[in-house]
Amino acid sequence: MSPRFPKTFDRPAKALSPQEASEEGLWLAAEIALHDERYHGQDAPIITDAEYDKLRRRLKSLGDAHPAALADEVGVAVGAKPKVGFEKVAHDYPMLSLDNAFDDEDVREFERRIQRFLQISDPITFCCEPKIDGLSISLRFRNGKLICAATRGDGHTGEDVTRNIQNVSGLPLQIDHQGGMEVRGEIYMAKGDFAALNLQQVAENKPTFANPRNAAAGSLRQLDEQLAQSRALSFFAYGVAGPQGDDVSQFDQLQDLARLGFAINPDTARLTGADALIAWYQKRGLSRAELPHDIDGVVYKVDDGALRQRLGFVARSPRWAIAHKFPAETATTILTNIIIQVGRTGALTPVAELVPVNVGGVMVSRATLHNEEEIQRKDFRVGDHVVVQRAGDVIPQLVSVVSEKRQPDALPYHFPKTCPCPLASKIVAEFDEKTGKKDAVQRCSGGLACPHQKRERLIHLVSREAFDIEGLGPKQIDLFMERGLIDQPADIFTLRLREERGEFAPLMTWDGFGRQSAENLYGAIESRRTISFTRFLVGLGIRHLGTTNARLLARIFPSMKSLIDAHHLGNLKQVLMEVDGVGGAMAGSVWGFLEDPRTRSMMEDLAAQLHIEAELPKPIMGGKLENKIMVFTGTLANMSRGEAKARAEQAGAKVSGSVSAKTDYVVAGADPGSKAKKAADLGVALLSEEEFMRLLD
Ligand SMILES: [Zn+2]
Repeated sequence: MSPRFPKTFDRPAKALSPQEASEEGLWLAAEIALHDERYHGQDAPIITDAEYDKLRRRLKSLGDAHPAALADEVGVAVGAKPKVGFEKVAHDYPMLSLDNAFDDEDVREFERRIQRFLQISDPITFCCEPKIDGLSISLRFRNGKLICAATRGDGHTGEDVTRNIQNVSGLPLQIDHQGGMEVRGEIYMAKGDFAALNLQQVAENKPTFANPRNAAAGSLRQLDEQLAQSRALSFFAYGVAGPQGDDVSQFDQLQDLARLGFAINPDTARLTGADALIAWYQKRGLSRAELPHDIDGVVYKVDDGALRQRLGFVARSPRWAIAHKFPAETATTILTNIIIQVGRTGALTPVAELVPVNVGGVMVSRATLHNEEEIQRKDFRVGDHVVVQRAGDVIPQLVSVVSEKRQPDALPYHFPKTCPCPLASKIVAEFDEKTGKKDAVQRCSGGLACPHQKRERLIHLVSREAFDIEGLGPKQIDLFMERGLIDQPADIFTLRLREERGEFAPLMTWDGFGRQSAENLYGAIESRRTISFTRFLVGLGIRHLGTTNARLLARIFPSMKSLIDAHHLGNLKQVLMEVDGVGGAMAGSVWGFLEDPRTRSMMEDLAAQLHIEAELPKPIMGGKLENKIMVFTGTLANMSRGEAKARAEQAGAKVSGSVSAKTDYVVAGADPGSKAKKAADLGVALLSEEEFMRLLD
């Protein structure tokens, strides 16, 4: 705790004079504000929760004993509850991320891919905008009034930051528009405002921000509204979400937004063909340093609304847009050590430890080395001067060795033969099914027994995309594991019960916990006892089963029982393989997970603690092909197979890769092959491309 405590701190509150109470109250309020900022703003608390609670309790008792003396100066802070976070907001339309292009060829391929998908050969017209290095935000308006501003979050659920954006340049809170409307854009901090903020931070003896993006993020997610509103943030609108944004030209849409009072990037262009895009990009790359704000690339979006609708989305990003990134930033530093990290599925990743170095505004002290092959190929040795590179949000990586500077005694690196965990399990490399070669990734063979994997699995389970238990992160998992209180996932949900039975000292008495934080943690765990089947599946940490695949799986098997039943019947793998989008790798790992009695019982123990909500497929309202199972075969004349599939799914159909008695329609193009024959044998309706189009219209 801070050494400069006021002398009055240890005296009973009532024994202080009003003057003393007022002085100590001011000190306490400032101290609490500082720790709030450290805790929430920077996620780097410097005192324990117990110490923090003590400050708050003291301020409250001063306020109670001397209401008049403290009211003016401390005001709101007296007795105010510590804020624990923002309300969660589910997005009406997912906030997807964009695919990236890193070179000219990627941009050309992007256009070709669109042409193939749409089956057209004319060059495509795009709306081009600089890519602001800020944070995406969703703004919901109703009858012209801003009702909710939400961060992107995981793309499906964000945080409500409405109160923090009341004072953002270029972002009107009131617009001339009837009905509902969702505007999307980027919140950022201009370079000049960033410099001024850091000067002020220095003057106030507060830590500075590494770059404008961090400063904008810290301000937006600042729990102190007044502080957040005092930060100079700016906004550029980049689109309208949902059906309203569908039909219009992207370029025209931006002009409409400008007319409503939103700031739009003045440097926006409508260009046709990949070559024009690349020339435009190169000019921006040369002049980016002169701009008043940071940009990390440019974005191309198909301008025509009808084409955008036809193109639709792949799992994580729209097919009609791409971000063309500027080249990565690099720096030179010294490689001090190579350590091995064990992932939750046992994959071993060599990680470079570096003398910390500033790479494009971010301090980097670690970088990935990918795998053994990479280290051998580039011959990285401990002690080498190395080039480290960082691009966007990607993990920094080591590019090359500065060989002139190598020390004569530097030794080649040898990859270990055993896992760094105490069990020292053997390391194995699997065979890649596709290439038939040995996989570059090496794995610990310890499975569930390996403590490193165990830890990573637990951390994954509580992470945002899985159970999302607030306040239970790597630090706390380590603490509970060290004390032997959490070993398996199910243990998380029996913690409180075991505390109540007196099996361990109450959490609130632990170093680093207070009454409030212990209560918050148990509350967060309790709130996740009811969980969606998708999140449950993601939490299991099965290889190849991230959120997208888990959703897919939960659509086929809406509950754990149905999944286990299919496994008992012995046809799980086969059923999975027939689903479009499920590969052999995922089918195999799900099957393997259920087949192994250890992982199986881990899953069942966890499920026994939970109430798992079956996943109800989101009905596509009025979808013309709702719940129909369709198969496509042969070559279509007017659209690609990919587009046909996407349009069928948009209309509510499930698209399968093979024909069975459950299939409703088989759409056959030219040279249909065996699927059409099988459909005829099974009596499944066979449609021509024209008939399929009529079904949709
Ligand atoms: Zn291991």
